Amino acid sequence: MTDCIFCKIINGDFNTEFVHENEYAVVFKDINPKADIHLLVVPRKHVESLNELDDEILLGKLMTTVKETTKKLGIKSYRTIINTGKEAGQEVFHLHIHILSGKMNF
Ligand code: 5GP
Ligand code: ZN
Repeated sequence: MTDCIFCKIINGDFNTEFVHENEYAVVFKDINPKADIHLLVVPRKHVESLNELDDEILLGKLMTTVKETTKKLGIKSYRTIINTGKEAGQEVFHLHIHILSGKMNF
């Protein structure tokens, strides 16, 4: 989607550093971190939210990407969050999984 900030990041428009990437997803640091470590796992395919995801394989690949990333960075304890819908705090309508670790400020 052309007006989606995460699609633009995936497209390389802002030269965002990917801490990890694979065929299905990219992982980058949250611009406004709410923990010592705050990463976002974002599928390459534009899906608005978990409610619109009808691809079990992709869902599994995203969780596998969480594991790959935390293993690569040596993160042993972490929290994963998916905000779904505006009332639940979703601000960017391109599905993403938050990885939070260390001291959390929220
Ligand atoms: P949500 O509230 O939708 O679950 O999370 C969206 C997250 O994306 C927020 O934590 C916000 O700080 C982050 N974010 C929004 N715009 C950008 C951006 O342009 N770059 C990066 N790296 N993170 C962003
Ligand atoms: Zn998008």
